[in-house]
Amino acid sequence: MSPVPPGGTIGILGGGQLGRMTALAAGRLGYRCHVLAPEAESPAAEVSAAFTRAAWDDEAALDRFAGAVDVVTLEFENVPVAAVERIARQRPVRPGAAVLAVTQDRVAEKSFVNRAGVGTAAWRPVASAADLGRAREALGGSCILKTCRMGYDGKGQVMVRPGDDPMARWAGLRTDAAIAEAVVDFALEMSVITARGVDGALASYPPVENRHEHHILRRTIAPAPIAAGAAAEAVRIAETLATELAVVGLLGVEMFLARDGAVLVNELAPRPHNSGHWTMDACAVGQFEQLVRAVCGLPLGDPAPFSAAVMDNLLGDEADRWPELLAEPGARLHLYGKREARPGRKMGHVNRLGPR
Ligand code: AMP
Repeated sequence: MSPVPPGGTIGILGGGQLGRMTALAAGRLGYRCHVLAPEAESPAAEVSAAFTRAAWDDEAALDRFAGAVDVVTLEFENVPVAAVERIARQRPVRPGAAVLAVTQDRVAEKSFVNRAGVGTAAWRPVASAADLGRAREALGGSCILKTCRMGYDGKGQVMVRPGDDPMARWAGLRTDAAIAEAVVDFALEMSVITARGVDGALASYPPVENRHEHHILRRTIAPAPIAAGAAAEAVRIAETLATELAVVGLLGVEMFLARDGAVLVNELAPRPHNSGHWTMDACAVGQFEQLVRAVCGLPLGDPAPFSAAVMDNLLGDEADRWPELLAEPGARLHLYGKREARPGRKMGHVNRLGPR
């Protein structure tokens, strides 16, 4: 497949900050971007050459969009598979519908990971309160119940403890398909972002530690303070999964380092990942440029960091601290241009280089 050279147009499905930073990286390499998203306000569209505001099931709009771009990628992994399949009749979508079908559904995702020989928390599919009661027993008396689809930042998940009524817990989740997972006793949470090119070449950023607050990523520490053996295992896992899934683009792999030393996969994201924002300032080629290179069929860049880094998300009105962050030596500020600073909303991030 011939590459899409600089000067071409990259279509981006989804209009959020991940698309914005992709478009900025693409622009630096001489590409134009065209965003397709259902929302009127789009941080990605504001820095792109073109914007199609359309619902995911607006077939005429999908067809026009496909006709106007050279290659398509995505910044939102819950784009309906039918929309991706429709666009893919005209233009390559990277990563494609087969990848999304796996990563949009927690049962499909965990089944895939285990089939690839990689460990996860023990889990059971749950479709009723009775299933949940049985799963809780099998998983050690407590479990975490998660909706199969559309969960993020802790939405669509509840802890089920020994005394809890499975009926009430199941009803509270308001779904017909869920997964129950054993509670992992972890030393830390970490992630690896792996890029995979059209030719199958791989390039991985080193594992980083992720600290969450109220289920939202608060801080990423790069590199993760873990033994070399665990770091190598985390990279091996991410590269195995990217290869088995045949991702073209990026795969973010969220993992637990269990207290017993096991590396267990929690979740996959086939797109740029919040835990990779540090790479924008601390690596020769950051994750957004790497995505552009992968989907356009260019050689992948060097992911090696030239510095340690700490990334802090700016949530809600924390972004109002921009004057002091701009004044801080060594701090690199990134703002997403969102107008409304709702509590917990990701408004920007700050990278600080060097070990902390
Ligand atoms: P998720 O939506 O699956 O990424 O989960 C959000 C957060 O909940 C994770 O980052 C963990 O902090 C926590 N969590 C999720 N699943 C488990 C598990 N099986 N054991 C322990 N903690 C978990």
